[in-house]
Amino acid sequence: MPGAGMDLIVRGGTVVTMDGARRVLTGDVLVRGNTIVQLGRLKTPPRGALVLDARGCAVMPGFVQTHVHLCQALFRGMADDLPLLEWLKQRIWPLEAAHDERSLYASARLGLAEMLLAGTTTVLDMGTVHHHDAVFTALAESGMRAFSGKAMMDTGVGVPKGLRETTKQSLAESDRLRARWHGAEDGRLGYAYAPRFILSCTEQLLWGASEAAHSTPGVLLHSHAAEHADERRAVKEALGKDDITALADCGLTGERTVLAHGVQLRAAEMRGLAKAGTRFTHCPSANLKLASGIADVVAMREAGMLVGLGADGAPCNNRMDPFTELRQAALLAKVKRGDAGALKAEDALAMATIDGARVLGIDGHTGSLEVGKRADLAVVRLDALHAEPGGDAVARLVYACTASDVRHVLVDGRVVVADGELRTMDSDAVRTAARREGERVRKRAKL
Ligand SMILES: [Zn+2]
Repeated sequence: MPGAGMDLIVRGGTVVTMDGARRVLTGDVLVRGNTIVQLGRLKTPPRGALVLDARGCAVMPGFVQTHVHLCQALFRGMADDLPLLEWLKQRIWPLEAAHDERSLYASARLGLAEMLLAGTTTVLDMGTVHHHDAVFTALAESGMRAFSGKAMMDTGVGVPKGLRETTKQSLAESDRLRARWHGAEDGRLGYAYAPRFILSCTEQLLWGASEAAHSTPGVLLHSHAAEHADERRAVKEALGKDDITALADCGLTGERTVLAHGVQLRAAEMRGLAKAGTRFTHCPSANLKLASGIADVVAMREAGMLVGLGADGAPCNNRMDPFTELRQAALLAKVKRGDAGALKAEDALAMATIDGARVLGIDGHTGSLEVGKRADLAVVRLDALHAEPGGDAVARLVYACTASDVRHVLVDGRVVVADGELRTMDSDAVRTAARREGERVRKRAKL
C-alpha cells in the first residue's frame, strides 16, 4: 500500500476525468500518497512505483452516493413489495429497533463491501437511532470516504419503543458522535445530522439539528422529503403545510442540507430549492420499488438544483450498486420527458460523481480526476462481452457496464479493491457475519 510520498501508477487506461472540460485521456494516473499528481501518458514512470494495470479499462472518479442506509443492509430480502409507510412501520422500524452493536456493525460492513466492490468511494449515510459508533467503526476500517449520522426521531405514529428518544437525548447523542467522528481518519469521515423525516421529528429537534450542524464547519444536514404522495398528504394533514416548507421553516435549507427523493416536487418548489441552494439526491430504484414515482431530475437540474444519486437502502432497492442507479437515472429521465436526449450519458455520470461531490461540499478534493485532487477512483473493465465491441467510453460506463466489471478501486490513494478483491475487509467473514446477525436481528424483531 502506498504511504505518504510513495508512488502508485494506474497504467494504460482510458481516463474519464469528469473535469470541467469533461476530458477523456488515454494513459496513466500517477498518485503520490493520497493525491493525483499527473494525468496522461507518463514518459518516465517513477522507479519503485506500485503499478495497477488498467489496460482495456476506463479509469473514472469513484462513485459518490449521496443517500444510503448502511444500517439496513442486513434487511435485504426482509421487506419486499410494500408501500413506503407500511414498509417503514411493519418492517424497517421493528428491524432497526432490534439492532444491537454487533448486528449494526455486520450490516455496515456488508453494505460497505458491496459498494466498494462496485466502485463507490464516497457515501452520505443515514443510520438508525442507537449504537451508531458501530457504523463509524466499520466506515473507518473499510477505507470508504463518508458522511454519516444517527437517525433522529423524537415523535411519530407507529415508532417502536426501541427507536424513541427525547429531543434532548437525540441532540446530545448526535453532538457526541459529531465530536468523536467528524474529521476522523485524516478528514475522510464527516458528520451529518440526520432528522429522519418530518413526521418523526418535532420542530425543536429540527431546529436543534440545524443549529448544531451550522455551528461546525463541514457538517451536513440529511433528511428525506417529497418521497411518496401518501406521505406528503399525511404531512399536510399533520402540519398544514408541505414537508419542504416545514423543513425550511425549521432551518433545514441551504447548501449544507441534503434531502433524499423529491419525487413529488412541484416546479415552484424546485425554483425555491434552487434559490436556497438546498441539495437533493435522486434514488431511482428505491422510488420505483416503493411505487413512489419517478422524480423529474431534468426539471430539477433545469431549475438550477444540484442533484446527486444514491441507492438508498438494501431493503428498498435491493442493491446498493451505483451502476444500477446511474443507468436507471438516465433511462427514467428519458421516459419521464418523452425525450431520448433528456439526460445524456455524460450528465448522468456527472450526477454520480462530480455533482455528488458538490452536493456534499467536497468537490474541491474529490468527484473528478484532476491533478491536486485526492485519488478516489475506480478502474472499470470495458472488455466484458456486454460492453464490447467499443464506442464511447462514457456511454459504455452508463449504459453497458455493471458492478462486476470493477477491477480496482482507490480511496484517498489507498487500494481498497485490487483485481476485484476487497483489500480492507475479508469478504467471506463479511458474508458469514451478515448471515448470522441477519437471522438474529430478524428473530429479535419477531418477523
Ligand atoms: Zn432513505
